[in-house]
Amino acid sequence: MYMAKPVIVVHGGAWGIPDEQVDENIKGVEKAVREGWKILKTGGSALDAVVAAVNSMEDNPIFDAGIGSVLTTDGTVEMDALIMDGNTLNAGAVAGLRDVRYPIKLARHVMEDTPHVLMIGDGANRLADEFKVERITQDELVTEDARKGLKEWLKDQKFGETFGHETVGAVALDADGNIATATSTGGVTGKRVGRVGDVPIIGSGGYADNRVGAVSTTGHGESILKVNLSKLVLNYMETGMSVQIATEKALGYMAVRVNGNGGLIAIDKDGNIGHGFTTKRMVWASIKDDDLESGINA
Ligand code: ASP
Repeated sequence: MYMAKPVIVVHGGAWGIPDEQVDENIKGVEKAVREGWKILKTGGSALDAVVAAVNSMEDNPIFDAGIGSVLTTDGTVEMDALIMDGNTLNAGAVAGLRDVRYPIKLARHVMEDTPHVLMIGDGANRLADEFKVERITQDELVTEDARKGLKEWLKDQKFGETFGHETVGAVALDADGNIATATSTGGVTGKRVGRVGDVPIIGSGGYADNRVGAVSTTGHGESILKVNLSKLVLNYMETGMSVQIATEKALGYMAVRVNGNGGLIAIDKDGNIGHGFTTKRMVWASIKDDDLESGINA
C-alpha cells in the first residue's frame, strides 16, 4: 500500500498584521498546526487534521474566523467556510452564518451528510439544528478589537486595511496519500450584510485534488473570486511548475490582472510545500517530518 509522508500547513491570514499582534499570531498558527499534526501522526485523515487545525483558530480571538470575526457595516458577524476532500472531490461550504461556533464543522456536514455543496441562510441554520452543531451568540462572537476595527474602517472605508484579525485555513496530506483543504472566515471589515467572499466558493477559497495538491487562500475576496486563485495554482502545477513557483505565479497574475492582494498556502501530491503573499504579511506554520516551521514576513 502506498504510504505518504504526512504534511500539514496552516495560515492565519494575510494583510498587514500590526507589530504588536505578531507574536500572538505566530503562537496561534503554531498551536493550530500542532493540533492537526497530532491527528496525522497517529494515522488520522487529512480531513480530520484540517478540521482540527481550523477549529483551533476559530476558537482563537486573534483570528478572523469564529470568535474574533470582523464586522459588517451593521456591526454583525457573518461567517463563511469551505472544506474539500481531494480523494473524491467532495466539498461542503456554508455562507453568511451568524450563530455557529465552528463553521468548518457545519461545512463538513454539508459535504458528508447532504447531497449539496453550498448552503446559506435558513437552510444552513436548519442543518446546524439537525446535526447539533454547537451554537454561539453574536455577543460571544464579537470582540472589542472587531468593534474597534469597524470604527477605524468607517473613517475612510478602504478595504484591505488590517485590523489584526485574519482568515484561517489549512491543507494536509495524510499517510494514505489523501489530501484535504479547509478555510474559514468572518470576511472583511465593513462588508455589506449579505456579502459573500471567496472563502466558500470552490476553486477560490480552496481546492483539493489528490492528483495535484491543495490550496487555501486569504486576502481580498473579490479579487480571489475573479481569478479562481486556488484552482489557478493547481492549474499551473499541472503544467509541471513546482508548488512554490505556481503559488508565486498565481498571486502575480491576480496582482497584475485585477490589482488584487492576497496570500495562500499550498501542497503538492508529494507533500512539497508552497506559500506566498502580496500583502505586507501572512502568518503561516507547517509540520513535516516532525519539524515545525512558521513565518509572518516576506
Ligand atoms: N478572503 C477573505 C474574504 O474576503 C478575507 C481575508 O482573507 O482576509 O472574505
